[in-house]
Amino acid sequence: MPWKVRCQSCGRERTLNISFDIASQKVLYQYCPYCGKNTFNDILGYLDVSEEKKEA
Ligand SMILES: [Zn+2]
Repeated sequence: MPWKVRCQSCGRERTLNISFDIASQKVLYQYCPYCGKNTFNDILGYLDVSEEKKEA
């Protein structure tokens, strides 16, 4: 499932494919490719399939 998250460290938004439901969480500890390390990420919400681009 595509989720939109924002890194609390660098502030960049990105889409993550996560197989489990994170809707009950507020933050997600995940690897940020921009920071090059694991950071806390705000979970902005589930990305609607209609918004999903084929290029991703
Ligand atoms: Zn980051």
